[in-house]
Amino acid sequence: MSSIFDYAIEGYETNLSSKKIGIFGNPIKHTLSPIIHDTLSENLGIDEKYIPFLIEKDLKKCVDMAFDEGILGLNITVPHKQNVIQALVEVDDAAKAIGAVNTLVRISNGYKGYNTDMPGLARAMFSENIAIDNKNVIIIGAGGAARAVAYMCNYYNANQIYIINRTYDNAKKIVDDMNFAFDTNRNMPISSDNYSAIPKDKYLFIQCTSIGLHEKDGLPLIIGDSFYDMAEAAVDLIYNPAETPFLKLMKDKNIPYMNGLKMLLYQGIMAYELWNDINVSDELGEMVYKTLYKAVYNNSNNIVLVGYMGSGKSTIGKYIAKEFGYNFIDTDEYIELKQKMTINDIFATYGEEYFRNLETEVLRELNGKSVKTVISTGGGMPVKKENQEILRDIGKVIYLAAKSETIYDRVKNSTNRPLLACKNPRKKIEEMIKTRNPIYSSVADYIIETDEQNIKDIASKIIALSC
Ligand code: NAP
Repeated sequence: MSSIFDYAIEGYETNLSSKKIGIFGNPIKHTLSPIIHDTLSENLGIDEKYIPFLIEKDLKKCVDMAFDEGILGLNITVPHKQNVIQALVEVDDAAKAIGAVNTLVRISNGYKGYNTDMPGLARAMFSENIAIDNKNVIIIGAGGAARAVAYMCNYYNANQIYIINRTYDNAKKIVDDMNFAFDTNRNMPISSDNYSAIPKDKYLFIQCTSIGLHEKDGLPLIIGDSFYDMAEAAVDLIYNPAETPFLKLMKDKNIPYMNGLKMLLYQGIMAYELWNDINVSDELGEMVYKTLYKAVYNNSNNIVLVGYMGSGKSTIGKYIAKEFGYNFIDTDEYIELKQKMTINDIFATYGEEYFRNLETEVLRELNGKSVKTVISTGGGMPVKKENQEILRDIGKVIYLAAKSETIYDRVKNSTNRPLLACKNPRKKIEEMIKTRNPIYSSVADYIIETDEQNIKDIASKIIALSC
């Protein structure tokens, strides 16, 4: 007699844990879902194990077997999200309207189907301060994911919603269904060659096509740059690569953006909440996100440069970015851009503590977004204990050390160093280096003395140490 555990992928068949949850899909070998659910179970002390099942056919039979063999809950992924509905005893209203189920919850006589992709994306967006309520939205794409996104935008009271797609009829179908389900006419289909029909305004852009998944992909719709100028916030459902050409463009335009990794996270968390009838806190959500993020992007390919002002962090960081193909971020410049104020003005207007809090905020943000990036940090950043942990979390930390005389020579003529606005900057540098040296050393994975070396040699050393 066959068992649902015959379908479990290699390495998961002999699990002895008392309760079981899992996922049906094809392909399924590389699913990231076990990371989410097992991390939740470990942290909450819940004795549950998540098992990926390779289901190619006989979906209904497999759903029935899972129920008979006591599986508490299941995720459903490609290609079964629509067909699984026929195997269920009940379907939640939102999942019915979206026409796709990604979560099965055990009830007395079978499974009830839910769609947590939709509220999962909303929760992810809210966690990134990207609002939907009363926003005009442009949804790019009209496949299965766009359908859930359109439902989400209607559910969370977006204002006007344009669905723009290569195949007009696919956009029209979603628009008709959503206008009917919400008794509205705020949804409008747009064919991609008629994009100029969308009125000039500011929009939340949600990119739902599969364009951007592959290295050679360009923008999702090859239309004028002015089209993308209408974005005031941007979401791409794709999470690998971390930055699609669409997100890179948004980043260049300094538009708040997020990729699809937090959507993956929160659809999983919301399924877990349904199975176990619990609420997962935002703190635990963030902790699971970090684990997921590391598994997907391998944080270790980021380089974090710490050291006193004038130690060469920005110069060397920019050199590495140019010569070795890294992204580059200078946290001071990043703060100035975000605050629309110089560091000098921030210090003068709000004081040092305010600036230090901004630094922590920026670090937290970079911790969830940086991939193959060199981050040049402000000289005082590692002083705060909280920052030290985040810095280590982001990537390999390199301390660029230099003697106080070297530093003085490098910075003596600069006018944008508020901490040196004093009577005897040479003495101040000496004292500060004495205090900060042990801090930089303790946070760093590696220390490089920069006094006698040229930029090229320092950069090559950093790359060798980071790989
Ligand atoms: P889908 O149903 O296959 O839809 C694909 C969409 O991409 C359609 O709108 C299609 O347009 C468009 N498209 C495909 N090739 C195109 C091309 N060459 N030029 C222009 N448009 C093109 O896929 P889906 O399930 O909606 O998924 C879409 C994306 O969302 C995928 O990349 C997936 O990885 C991502 N996703 C992420 C999450 C997450 O948790 N982060 C969850 C679900 C999906 P036509 O209608 O004209 O064919």
